[in-house]
Amino acid sequence: MNQNKYQRILLKLSGEQLAGNFESGIDPVICTWLTEEIKPIIRAGVEIIIMVGGGNFARGERLAGHGIKRVTADHIGMLGTLMNALALTDIFESNGIPTRCLSSIFAEQVAEPFIHRLANKHLEKHRVVIAAGGIGRPYMTTDTAAVSLALELDCQVVLKATKVNGVYDKDPTIYPDAVKIDKVSFRQAVSDYDIRIMDKAAFGLAMEHKLPIIIFEAMQKNAILNTVNGKTTGTYIG
Ligand code: UDP
Repeated sequence: MNQNKYQRILLKLSGEQLAGNFESGIDPVICTWLTEEIKPIIRAGVEIIIMVGGGNFARGERLAGHGIKRVTADHIGMLGTLMNALALTDIFESNGIPTRCLSSIFAEQVAEPFIHRLANKHLEKHRVVIAAGGIGRPYMTTDTAAVSLALELDCQVVLKATKVNGVYDKDPTIYPDAVKIDKVSFRQAVSDYDIRIMDKAAFGLAMEHKLPIIIFEAMQKNAILNTVNGKTTGTYIG
């Protein structure tokens, strides 16, 4: 067993992070930067699952309407996550990180199917597992899917990357005097309407199973490594 605070982690990356400096699509510079952040974590022996979002391509909630059913819109959203996962898998592998893309929607031509035992086997071999298609069902987001998958794969923590370094008392991108909150209880995360950094279903599931979530700033150097070592500067929800 390694000496890190966490042995197996789930990292949730939203589509917005993968788009980086672009309005939509994937920013290869950001994704390559990410590989350098991931390498020391793998070297430290930590097993890592990445749940990718798809908001840089489509979000079901926004797309539904004008004849497009919500279920179809969510299918399109899930396909967006698959595109991100495929791109990220290639970028990781071409940067020397053994990686497998496992999809929760049927896509055998392009990715391995998500099978619990298969995911575990890859992780035990210290391959990064990139989960595509969320949980594979509509009316869900990849935040909730991230918590669900972290539970399924015995992760000790969910690391949720955002553009700000945690939960604040007000929006720090608008108010310069916003104050960061270091620790938030599950109960507060579930009940406080203003805490919208993840959806309530995700917080509820994490609370039920006492799975901590750490919110941190995606683009901060060594943020993931420090978090794995128990030195996060973000917000701990638990
Ligand atoms: N989605 C879904 N089921 C899932 C995960 C995702 O239907 O298990 C769809 C949903 O429409 C969602 C979209 O995929 O809006 C993209 O995911 P999300 O909005 O979570 O992406 P992010 O905001 O993290 O980029």
